[in-house]
Amino acid sequence: MKNVGINGYGTIGKRVADAVACQDDMQIVGVTKRTPNFEAQMAVEKGFPLYISAPEREGLFEEAGIKVTGTIDDLYDKVDVMVDCTPGGIGAKNKEVYSEKGVKGIFQGGEKHELIGKSFNSFANYKDNWGADYSRVVSCNTTGLCRTLKPIDDLCGIKKVRAVMVRRGADPGQVKSGPINAIVPNPPTVPSHHGPDVQTVMYDLDITTMALLVPTTLMHQHNMMVELENPASLDEVIATLEATPRVMLVEAGKGLGSTAEIMECARDLGRPRSDLNEIAVWKESLNIKDGELFYMQAIHQESDVVPENVDCIRAMLEMEEDPAKSIAKTNKNMGIS
Ligand code: NAD
Repeated sequence: MKNVGINGYGTIGKRVADAVACQDDMQIVGVTKRTPNFEAQMAVEKGFPLYISAPEREGLFEEAGIKVTGTIDDLYDKVDVMVDCTPGGIGAKNKEVYSEKGVKGIFQGGEKHELIGKSFNSFANYKDNWGADYSRVVSCNTTGLCRTLKPIDDLCGIKKVRAVMVRRGADPGQVKSGPINAIVPNPPTVPSHHGPDVQTVMYDLDITTMALLVPTTLMHQHNMMVELENPASLDEVIATLEATPRVMLVEAGKGLGSTAEIMECARDLGRPRSDLNEIAVWKESLNIKDGELFYMQAIHQESDVVPENVDCIRAMLEMEEDPAKSIAKTNKNMGIS
């Protein structure tokens, strides 16, 4: 049984904590919070030992009546790996501390690949992270791109990808992000950083991306144009995506024609927090024209990277050599299709 700590029990951290807690080969030995808010209270109620990530703020937790087990300095000795889910940019600074303490670290997509040294996606480069001390689970958008591009690349090879990503302006719980009444090219420069980010795990892929922000909180949406290396039929592509774990074909004709309806379906599935860990690909959008594959997909930004964090733990702690077995185990324990 491997011991896992979560540094930063926020949107991603609380989900990774639950995903680890439902596996049978790893357990949560502590989660950290900086602020004594409802998430800190709920971590304690769930039975996760709570540590303060900023020891000088201990008085705030006392004032709020939230019982803590200690400070983050007490947690380092207890973990085999720290999954760092702090806001973008902080993880890279924490890496220096983990290194001093001799603790392995998994970081999230808000960190720069160059500062962490390695990146991870379960389908693209699991084996390259075997025994690694530090790695970074690529962002929610990059995870979504890899989930569908890797099986297509395996099927028939990819000559070139162009993708336009429509990004959610904020997560549902965020009150300080936007826009609320605009479409914002973001970044306004072309290409966006997403293509190079995919290349941190699918090293040789020729991919160029553009992105914009829109006033929605539910999901990201991607519009994919993929020049195929070798001929493939639409039926073969559909069969490949249907057979790919963590990918779900949805049909507008069956009432799933928008991100709103897909998330309504996720609520009906009864998953924790109404999460949809799978990438939803609109079946009707799949088409091949002159050797180029077109499709549209939707990404639940708060949850698609969560099972990837569990697989990354198994790769870095040398617990399961076969990526397919880790993916299947994570999925089974989390109830993912
Ligand atoms: P969040 O703001 O929801 O949670 C961050 C947590 O870290 C909070 O609990 C906060 O209290 C804590 N924290 C803040 N400053 C800290 C510090 N100095 N030291 C320790 N803890 C601190 O953030 P999030 O959305 O969960 O994002 C975390 C990481 O995951 C980022 O790298 C982000 O880019 C990435 N990510 C986010 C999403 C998403 O949609 N939210 C999707 C994929 C990846």
